Amino acid sequence: MKKSIRIIAAALIAVLMTACLTACGKKTEGTIKFGTNAEFPPFEFVAANGVIGEFDGIDIAIAKQIGEDINMEAKIENMEFDSLLVALQNKQIDAVIAGMTVTEERAESVDFSTPYYSATQVIITKEGSGIKSAADLADKFTSVVQGYTGETCIVDLGYRYESFKKGTECVMELVNGKCDAVVIDSATASKYVADNKGLVIVEDPAVFGNEEYAIAVAKGNKELLDKINASIEKMLANGTIATLGDKYCSAE
Ligand code: GLN
Repeated sequence: MKKSIRIIAAALIAVLMTACLTACGKKTEGTIKFGTNAEFPPFEFVAANGVIGEFDGIDIAIAKQIGEDINMEAKIENMEFDSLLVALQNKQIDAVIAGMTVTEERAESVDFSTPYYSATQVIITKEGSGIKSAADLADKFTSVVQGYTGETCIVDLGYRYESFKKGTECVMELVNGKCDAVVIDSATASKYVADNKGLVIVEDPAVFGNEEYAIAVAKGNKELLDKINASIEKMLANGTIATLGDKYCSAE
């Protein structure tokens, strides 16, 4: 009796293993941990059924595809935007994917991949506010997110501002009449304007230049950077990233 149970159990295990190998496909070789700040729709946000766990967005889909391309399981570590580069240097994560703009200052401490998305800063303001350009912010009060390039822009302009931890907090300040404008990345601004009645986007390309988003790895981690670049370049060439952009920018 005992023996037959053992035989049945062994047979079951064999069947299950075969099923798993078939269903799971190729076995991955370890994990790649991406750090992000899931407060930046449409690039990264928390959703009920995300692409990786509860995380969803253009960047998360890109991270997942990179994982598949380099035969590693992509995992997401969610943290404050300001902590991402430090976490990378401390080896807490392997790469940062966070709609992160390549800047000279950041490139001093990390290495950036081939850029995968072009963006710019824009102004969000209330309909009828009279704000038509960046210069109009001179005598106004602007909200920005701490550590974002939008903050650098307003600091460089020398205008009055307050910084917050999240884009949604900035937008609430604006909606509640506590500030006159928010300066933030274009695609994210479009999401906030679509979600909040009475807000409009004002562009000023002469003042807010082009920004390129890229993935960051620890300085000198050429092996990983080369693999990430090969994957990104493939996704740029075959239209994957453009398709993701369309999908997430038009989604409700
Ligand atoms: N692109 C902006 C920056 O790099 C904002 C990025 C983000 O909020 N995730 O600062």
